[in-house]
Formats: sequence, C-alpha cells, structure tokens
Amino acid sequence: MEAAQTIKNLPPYLFARIEKLTAEAKAAGKDVISLGIGDPDRPTPPHIIAKLIEQAQNPANHQYPSSVGMLEFRQAVADWYQKRFGLKLDPKTEVVSLLGSKEGIAHISFCYLNPGDLSLVPDPGYPVYAIGALLGNARSYPLPLLPEKGFLPDLQAIPDAVAREAKIMFLNYPNNPTGATADLKFFQEVVEFARKYDILVCHDAAYSEVFFDGKAPVSFLQAEGAKEVGIEFHSVSKTYNMTGWRVGWAAGNAEAIDVLGRFKSNVDSGVFQALQYAAITALTDSQDCVKEMRQVYQERRDVVVAGLRKMGWNLEPPQATIYVWAPVPKGYTSSSFAELILEKAAVVITPGLGYGERSDGYFRIALTQEVDRIQEALDRMQAALGVMEF
Ligand SMILES: *Cc1c(COP(=O)(O)O)cnc(C)c1O
Repeated sequence: MEAAQTIKNLPPYLFARIEKLTAEAKAAGKDVISLGIGDPDRPTPPHIIAKLIEQAQNPANHQYPSSVGMLEFRQAVADWYQKRFGLKLDPKTEVVSLLGSKEGIAHISFCYLNPGDLSLVPDPGYPVYAIGALLGNARSYPLPLLPEKGFLPDLQAIPDAVAREAKIMFLNYPNNPTGATADLKFFQEVVEFARKYDILVCHDAAYSEVFFDGKAPVSFLQAEGAKEVGIEFHSVSKTYNMTGWRVGWAAGNAEAIDVLGRFKSNVDSGVFQALQYAAITALTDSQDCVKEMRQVYQERRDVVVAGLRKMGWNLEPPQATIYVWAPVPKGYTSSSFAELILEKAAVVITPGLGYGERSDGYFRIALTQEVDRIQEALDRMQAALGVMEF
C-alpha cells in the first residue's frame, strides 16, 4: 500500500534528534528539565472540570452534537468577544465551534485553496499554517518576521505578483514562537492589504489572554472592516489550561464561517456537548483563574529573562505568550546550541529551525515548568556556559 504523495511531502519531524538525545539522557539517569513543551503545565481550574462531570452524566449530551456547535456555546463566545474586545458577533452566522483551533487552522486551507494556489504564512510560524496548504496540494509563501520590525510581516515587501496570487494569509498575535504582539494600526494595514488583493485573513489568537504587565492585546476583528476580510481562530486551550479538551472556535466573516462549517460537517460531528458546556463555564464564570494564570507565567518569564541576561543575553521581556524567543550565541546553530545545553546542563530548549529556515539563529524557551525548576535550569546553564558572546 502506498501513501499519497502529499503524505510523503510532509516535512520530517525536526525535533526527532533532540527527543532521542533527551531520552538517552533520561535513560542515563540525568534529571532532565524540559523547557521545550508548549503546553500549560498547570491543571484545568476545578469549576470547569466539575461542569464537565455534571454534563457528562446527562444522556441528552451523549448523542451527536450539532457540527457547528450548540447555539449556547456560540452565544457564550459572542458574549466573551463583546466583553473582552467590545465587539458584536452574531452567534448564528459568525461563530463556529472547532475541535480545538488547530483543527480549523488546518482545514481552512482546504476550504479556500485549489491545488497550486498560494497561501501566505508567517516565518517563523506554527507549522500547521503551511501544512494545511501542503496537504491540499497548494503552496505557501513565507512572510519573514524580523526582530527589527517587531516580528510583524512587512506587507509592503510582499511582491505584487505574490500578493495577487495569494488567496489566504495566516497571522498569529500574540505570536508563537516570538512572543510578539500586534497593535490595531498593523491590523488595519492588514485589512487594507486583504481588501486590495482579495485575500482571506486567518488570524490565530490562541494567546490573546496570556499577556503581561496588564497590557491586553487587541483582536484582529477590532480593526475596521476586519469582518469583511477575515476570521479569527481561538480556543480555551491556553487561557484555561485546557489543551487536552479540544474545544475551540472560529469567528468573523459569515461567509468563511459558513464555508468552514460546511467543510467540517463532512469530516467531523462536532464537539461533545458536555465539553461545550464546560467551555461555556470557562468563558462566562469568574475569570480569576485567568488572572492567576497570567501571574504564574509573568513570574516565570521574569526569572527566565533575568537568568539569560546574566549569561550575556540582551533581551526585552516578551509582552505575551508562554515563550521566550532568544538568539543563539556566536558560533552555534539552533540545533548545535540545543544539543550543547542538553549535554552540559540536561536542559531541553527548542531549536528555532523547527519554526522556519530563517530561525536557525534562535531558540525558544517555554514557561511551562514551575519557577524552581526554571531557576535550576538557568543555574545549570550558567554553570556550564558562563557568559556567552553574540
Ligand atoms: C497552542 C496553539 C494553538 C492552540 O491550539 P488548540 O488546537 O486550540 O489547542 C493555536 N495556535 C498556536 C500558534 C498555538 O501555539
């Protein structure tokens, strides 16, 4: 049996080598600290779990749900957007449930790209954007995110011919892996660009609630005219430590929401209703757990930034996300630096190369360990490396 060419075209798993070395270090009895995992380490808040347990016991929830989501769930999403961003969304036509935002992000490419069509994707970026195009036999064009531009793509630098060919564009702010945020002025430029070239904007807002120093990021949908050209992907995953639950949504342009909903009704049968009720509780009940989550990551972020600065890094603390994105020292690639850290300090970091070829000069630290473990990791790095040169 031969797999399709698209499957053969999937990129090799870039972290295979670092995972093998990690497994070897653990087998050799080393106390390995992983700062590589982009997945909240704290548990889901108890009131959300309690709602799932309650609703799982109701037989009415045991049957197939509506594939676009219960109206109550979509209403809760709309209410959350109103409260958080002052935005009006029609829950009937402008919101669709997803099995986590990753599912919708992968599938939207199938909805808008014919074979050979072009998709604009951030570089570095969450790999799913480009993979959606690849699985649909379409192509992706990388938009470089450069530090001197605040890790925002330079829309003026996109060649006219490329922009005219492009059908969709992915953006992600707050950004994984760089931790950068975008302002309304940038999103307004995106709307103008999308109007001019007839492009569907797909904004991934997974980290909109993981922000620091009280500076809440904006939604792409707040830009004037955004709903005419785009949709926003979001989920309860990062906000409420619910990555394993698989509940998300897309919101915005009614036509795109309808198209995505029709696609989905042919490949999945929606989110388990008990999960939708739990997500409603997450979005509508007290948001104290979200405040607490921000404090936890902010403290960890400060420890990481202080530790790296002591070793010679000249870093500004990221304003959002669970990541610190930093350049590798002189003389290293992202892979050779990650291997060095693992060998000398038994600490796992993520080489930038996995997020795009341009990112070989960077690595990512995830803030998904308790402060004492993060401090221990940094102490070991400092003991092994001393002060680094850049
Ligand atoms: C974690 C993450 C998501 C969230 O994925 P879910 O499928 O909603 O769990 C989306 N985008 C990015 C960039 C992420 O890092």
